Amino acid sequence: MTNKSSAIEKTSFGTTSAGQEADLYKLTNASGAQAWITTYGGTLTKLFVPDRNGKLTNVVLGFESIREYEEALGYFGATIGRYANRIVNAQFTLDGTKYTLNKNNGENTLHGGKVGFDKKIWSAERKTTSDGVGLSLKYVSPDMEEGFPGEVTVDVEYMLRDDNSLAINFRATTSKATPINLTNHSYFNLNGKPSTILDHELWIDADRFTEINDTLQPTGELPPVAGTAMDFNEKTTIGKRIKQLKLGYDHNWCLRDRSLSTPDVKLSSPETGIELTMYTDQPGVQVYSGNFMVPEETCGAFKMNYGVTLETQFFPDSVNQPQFPNTILRPGETYTHNVIYAFGTV
Ligand code: BGC
Repeated sequence: MTNKSSAIEKTSFGTTSAGQEADLYKLTNASGAQAWITTYGGTLTKLFVPDRNGKLTNVVLGFESIREYEEALGYFGATIGRYANRIVNAQFTLDGTKYTLNKNNGENTLHGGKVGFDKKIWSAERKTTSDGVGLSLKYVSPDMEEGFPGEVTVDVEYMLRDDNSLAINFRATTSKATPINLTNHSYFNLNGKPSTILDHELWIDADRFTEINDTLQPTGELPPVAGTAMDFNEKTTIGKRIKQLKLGYDHNWCLRDRSLSTPDVKLSSPETGIELTMYTDQPGVQVYSGNFMVPEETCGAFKMNYGVTLETQFFPDSVNQPQFPNTILRPGETYTHNVIYAFGTV
């Protein structure tokens, strides 16, 4: 039950360089955990959960000002859309029509294009239920935004439950057939201080991953993880085999199970004892170990490997890979996507 200590407080988060105003909502649940969310990008800026000694610890990377979010290149904590990860060569064909998108990652479209959902101002409404406090965000993406067809209405609901889990529910409808692949791009660091995540232990319930080439484009193959640095079927530290990969981890794992009731990923810090258990109904998760973080250039003061993302999603470039699960949303249908990041200690 929600008791008197739970709260939702709203303050200003300043204005964007284009002069749009953004708000910051601080959600506090009945156990004292907090989720801070700004309407700029539908972004989770802070997430405080207790460590093994009960000390509230911020477990996501974020910034204090809108300017820093505008300057950073890493999609810190943001809501990603219309299409998470890469669409190869920034194009796809749907129902016989070829669509050309804005390129923002070499030849590809990454995370929605030049001005993705992570840079939009979302409208917000508070929500209180018997098991927590939340925020419902909305954004209407116009027809042909970034080259994508259809006017798309997107709702993202963050619920900070009293059991210290953060549940995110994504929904979308469209006026024309269009690909949809939303996600949240939080970088977790369960040490709760500036440090790498190489000591974090990771478990992923997957026996295949999406193979990529040297420019991170999916090849269409789904090789087994067995016998490779991609195998996390036994809890293993992220740092143990990361050097076997040229750039570190930046891959989509094909999850074994699509029910919301069984864990798909576990991540823990031996230092604080904080353990994150992730549940999702999506077919994949992008685990990105912050390989491209260059301080002052792309990510404020954060350095390489200072955070790890767990981006639940359809497989990258599905729109050009007919053998991957279908990402096309049609008028009259509703896209739904759930992820739960549940926190405890070990
Ligand atoms: C992608 C990376 C990309 C990063 C940007 C990740 O989701 O997989 O390739 O560099 O986002 O922050």
